[in-house]
Amino acid sequence: METGIAMDHTEFKNPYLRTMFTEQQIAERVEELGKQITADYQGKRLVLVGVLKGSCVFMADLMRHIDLPMEIDFMAVASYKDGTVSTGDVEILKDLTKPIRDKNVIVVEDIIDTGLTLTRLVDILGTRGAKSIKLATFLDKPEPRINKELKVDYCGFEIPNEFVVGYGLDVAGRFRNLPFIGVVTDPEKV
Ligand code: 5GP
Repeated sequence: METGIAMDHTEFKNPYLRTMFTEQQIAERVEELGKQITADYQGKRLVLVGVLKGSCVFMADLMRHIDLPMEIDFMAVASYKDGTVSTGDVEILKDLTKPIRDKNVIVVEDIIDTGLTLTRLVDILGTRGAKSIKLATFLDKPEPRINKELKVDYCGFEIPNEFVVGYGLDVAGRFRNLPFIGVVTDPEKV
């Protein structure tokens, strides 16, 4: 069957990916973030809001290191691009299932690039009466940031301006299942 996907190697040992962070490095860092959030949110009503689909793996790992009574919810958004650059226009494809009024929200993202998607999302959530809204991202690329005011409260790793995949991050729908973060070295062959 023709799938359009190279089938002569496994994704985990794909020769066209260069590892940026190993599974072990990721696990250690996510545990640290969970402990930090646990310390910061003692006695507060916490809800983690994951931004689908990219945040799903980070969200699942992070919440298991948060030792507090808490809830989770998810949103899905489409961020529109002008070529490869984000325009800041965001459409909500899936909204929260419960109100966030009087709750302490942490928005959980996979990666922040220009920051325009999160800026718009925080604007939208900011109208809903939450007690506080903070941001957690697994990866942060400060270099392409357009909204320099965006405050990232919890960040796994700062990375250079390279396109990465794995640990929830995709290219054309692929690679979200990689347990590590990789840089695509040959987009033609990968
Ligand atoms: P922003 O609005 O901050 O420019 O866009 C953030 C979104 O762009 C992320 O949620 C992600 O979907 C996508 N993105 C930005 N950089 C990367 C990257 O290096 N790899 C992948 N797979 N997606 C990225």
